[in-house]
Amino acid sequence: MHELGVAGEILGIALSEVERNAAKKVTSIRLRVGVLRAIEPENLSFLFEHLSRGTPAEGALLEIVEEPVRVDCAVCGVSGARSLVWECPRCGGTGIALTEGDSLVVLSLDIED
Ligand SMILES: [Zn+2]
Repeated sequence: MHELGVAGEILGIALSEVERNAAKKVTSIRLRVGVLRAIEPENLSFLFEHLSRGTPAEGALLEIVEEPVRVDCAVCGVSGARSLVWECPRCGGTGIALTEGDSLVVLSLDIED
């Protein structure tokens, strides 16, 4: 249930934005979540709803954009999207660096004064 920690993280970001903008309410939050985070969107929304109760983020809509896995190969330099296989999609080399797929980023927040 690591979604609980993630939900808390998102709530923290949302509430600090409310404070920074002297706003009253968060109406929606757009997130980019890497597939490697293995987040269940329904679970995350449910937990966020629970945690945000009684805060300015109560009732905010979570919009979750999934980020695919993307790798960079140190051998041939190719950069590509790939499912969960730890080798380069072109040369089969294993000296790859994961460049996308594990992020958790708040892309935007809609707030109301
Ligand atoms: Zn390669």
